Amino acid sequence: MPVFVVELTALALVLTHIPGTHADRGDLAIMVTLCVLGVLHTEIAVGVERIRRRVTEAAPHVDLSSVWTFAGAVLLPPALASGVVVVVFTHLWWRAWRPRVPVYRQIFSTATVVLACHGASAVLVYLGVGKLGTGVGAGGAPMALVLGLLAYTTVNSGLIAGAIAVSTPHATASQVLGHWDENILEIATLCLGALAAAALAINPWLVVLVLPPLLVLHRAVLVRQLEQAASTDGKTGLLNAAAWHTQAEREVRRARRQNAGAAVLILDLDHFKAVNDRHGHLAGDQVLSSVAEALQAEVRDNDLVGRFGGEEFVVLLPGLDGGSYGREELEAVAERIRRRVARLAVHIPTPDGRLTVTGLSVSVGGARFPDDGADLKGLMEVADSALYAAKRAGRNLVRMGLHGPGPAPLSRAATEPPVQPS
Ligand code: GH3
Ligand code: MG
Ligand code: MG
Repeated sequence: MPVFVVELTALALVLTHIPGTHADRGDLAIMVTLCVLGVLHTEIAVGVERIRRRVTEAAPHVDLSSVWTFAGAVLLPPALASGVVVVVFTHLWWRAWRPRVPVYRQIFSTATVVLACHGASAVLVYLGVGKLGTGVGAGGAPMALVLGLLAYTTVNSGLIAGAIAVSTPHATASQVLGHWDENILEIATLCLGALAAAALAINPWLVVLVLPPLLVLHRAVLVRQLEQAASTDGKTGLLNAAAWHTQAEREVRRARRQNAGAAVLILDLDHFKAVNDRHGHLAGDQVLSSVAEALQAEVRDNDLVGRFGGEEFVVLLPGLDGGSYGREELEAVAERIRRRVARLAVHIPTPDGRLTVTGLSVSVGGARFPDDGADLKGLMEVADSALYAAKRAGRNLVRMGLHGPGPAPLSRAATEPPVQPS
């Protein structure tokens, strides 16, 4: 419903502006130039844009085409700027985003950009710099452009944040507001848009100079997204084993340098094979993803949570304020995780109705730096021995520190009869 309100408002604003719009030939020339450049930009960057869409399925997506739409908001009456938005974004969607972005979402994001243009235009006109003020080259213009830019991004991000908050219950702040580097990218894109507008106002040919830096920015953004995708476990969204290792090594080195504490937890779901056998591997995957979510919710933001492999997870917890990590403190975190997993009810939609998996449990082993090991490898060995001790002692348990010789292979018969997840 709120989505329709946004779309209808955008449509109504454009329709009410059309009758009062006095577009001269210069305006039409600028509109056509921006549309042509926007289409050209998409055509050159179509490969990059398709990969970008593929690797960031869920993340909020900054559109580098705002360069052209923001320039339109600065230089054109809102109705014509909206024309640039519709042409550039429809072409971009057609060439690079279909079918990943469904039509209804595309219409919504186009509507948010149309409203952002109206917001920026209103601010610029008020300050005497917009199309009607035609003062892009004037002294007060830079400040006015910055305010116009802020109006544009506030309207656009605000509407998208609202849509995410409404459609995603329990969304985190960073899901709703986007990661800070997404927001910096948005600002950088709009700065290029402001420069494109200034160039167009001085000499239309100058605007072509905006294309090369924009294309380089586009590629740089893709590289960053690929780096992020390469360090993420696709099934759970956690760090993958290699990325976790690299970052955890860095944290332990930092702890050693600063004479601070740190700790490692290794977690292994109990009798996870039974979940797969009973409900199938797809349900098993959903369980892994829910456990990952629970795990992340129980630790601090700067703790490193990774998927070690299969149904095993690892957490590195840096010491608070350079302080040591107490045994009780670590045990309390591990216990909290253990209890949360035991309470977990994973709801899985199936063709035969909703399936709920409960009765899960996890065994946890922990080790502390520097008491249990001098480096990450040593800590992992100790945490692993503790994990196996928890398994041997009957599962669904937490154990800390070194526990006897290494992991004797566990056979089901050697432990209590499994509590079958239901
Ligand atoms: P234990 O309490 O001794 O840890 O028993 P377990 O059944 O959890 O351990 P085991 O090592 O025998 O089995 C691990 C299971 O985890 C077997 C495998 O099918 C399952 N598994 C590993 N990776 C995945 C995955 O990505 N998805 C799903 N669905 N299952 C996985
Ligand atoms: Mg295992
Ligand atoms: Mg297991």
